[in-house]
Amino acid sequence: MPSTTFLKCTGCDSEYDPYPIQAVCKKCGSLLQYRYPYERIGKSFEGTGFWRYASLLPPVSKDNIVTLGEGGTPLRRAKNLSKKLGVKNLLLKDETTNPTNSFRDRAATLMISNALDLGYKKVICASNGNMGASIAAYSAKAGIKSTIIVPKRVDLGKLAQMHIYDAEIIEKGEIVDEAILEAEKRVNGNYQATPELNPLTIEAQKTISFEIFEQHGVPDWLIVPTGSGSTTYSIWKGFQELSALDLIKKEPRIVVVQPSGCAPITEAYKLNQDIATVEKPETRALALLVANPAYGKLALQAVRESNGTSIAVPDEQTLEAERLLAKSEGIFVEPASATTIASLQTLVNQGKISESETVVCLITATGLKAPYVLEALTKEESELRRETLRLRARGWDISTKLKILRLLDLGESYGYEIWKATDKKISIQAVYQHLDKMEQKELVDSFTKERRRYFTITKKGKRVLQALEELIALL
Ligand SMILES: [Zn+2]
Repeated sequence: MPSTTFLKCTGCDSEYDPYPIQAVCKKCGSLLQYRYPYERIGKSFEGTGFWRYASLLPPVSKDNIVTLGEGGTPLRRAKNLSKKLGVKNLLLKDETTNPTNSFRDRAATLMISNALDLGYKKVICASNGNMGASIAAYSAKAGIKSTIIVPKRVDLGKLAQMHIYDAEIIEKGEIVDEAILEAEKRVNGNYQATPELNPLTIEAQKTISFEIFEQHGVPDWLIVPTGSGSTTYSIWKGFQELSALDLIKKEPRIVVVQPSGCAPITEAYKLNQDIATVEKPETRALALLVANPAYGKLALQAVRESNGTSIAVPDEQTLEAERLLAKSEGIFVEPASATTIASLQTLVNQGKISESETVVCLITATGLKAPYVLEALTKEESELRRETLRLRARGWDISTKLKILRLLDLGESYGYEIWKATDKKISIQAVYQHLDKMEQKELVDSFTKERRRYFTITKKGKRVLQALEELIALL
């Protein structure tokens, strides 16, 4: 093994110098990864934050380091959420506290420092959001020009960040896959800061694993929101390097979580293949909207070799998890990060993760970047206003229906009991009329038990009730 840092092919084992940066092997086209002379590296780290781990990063001259104080993020014990999800030890690696509120600041500090080192005056980056915002901020700090190629579908908060940090923004394609091809084409004279095209991304993000190890040790499970697979691979690589340094004896089991509407890696995992394709990729977790994951194969390797698993969660479950996390732990995250909580719920229910195991969920970015919840609330609210007005116009009595829905939300009930709960201000016949109309609207269901007609609230009824309660809280 060479005595300095080098790039090694993950396919044919060919070796290259660490610079110039290259993503793929010239001989076989596989991805390259950095390797270090681990036996020469000390086992203790000095300083604070991201650059504490400089000895395990490709060399950058100290004078050119561009930093905004990234890394050193908290590992939070989620006591309230633990109880709700049925696990004893749930920890959240909270990357929302980074300078631009996402984990990508780690990659930006390393790449922009490297760009300065190599004498670049401008940088290009294809991104569906977080990476673009980070690169724009660190370029501003370094005094170099940034061009960000974004797909049509990008979260508003992230776009706002790119604008305010004065990046040139070019829109290309529907999803990030097309933007990446465009960044490859336009690279001439630019430093290539697209995560999928620059292996420094992996090196930077693996420091998350170093921090988790120093803050807690090795968890049983580590759940990673996965789009291109680069984050998952970097987390795994971090723990492998800790093993290579002889600092740990076991590695965590890696969980890849993807949105159901765009889950090529999870599909491949289920089919026991290396790649799978998505026909019509769709999700509200835009950070994970990647149809052809560049690091898919390596992410799968991480899952398989760590004896982990790969799972997909529907967007509705993710949105619920986002709310649950916010109201139980006070942390507002973007949908991509909430997929970790949604998947944990499923994995605990399936018995895959047991109550006594320690789980770390990687929280990648803040919810303010992706105002999905706000949109959803506004939409629910406006739909509700329309519905309320429509019903009033027809002479419907909203307050009685609200009382009925609230009662049924607590459990099944029958006519007389419901009538009592409405304070008997209207006749029992009127209560049945309400119930009949609500059944026609599919807000309630009924069945007969012991010659009595019981009513239950439907899923739609629950949604309407929740929307009503939210509206009332706003008024
Ligand atoms: Zn090769």
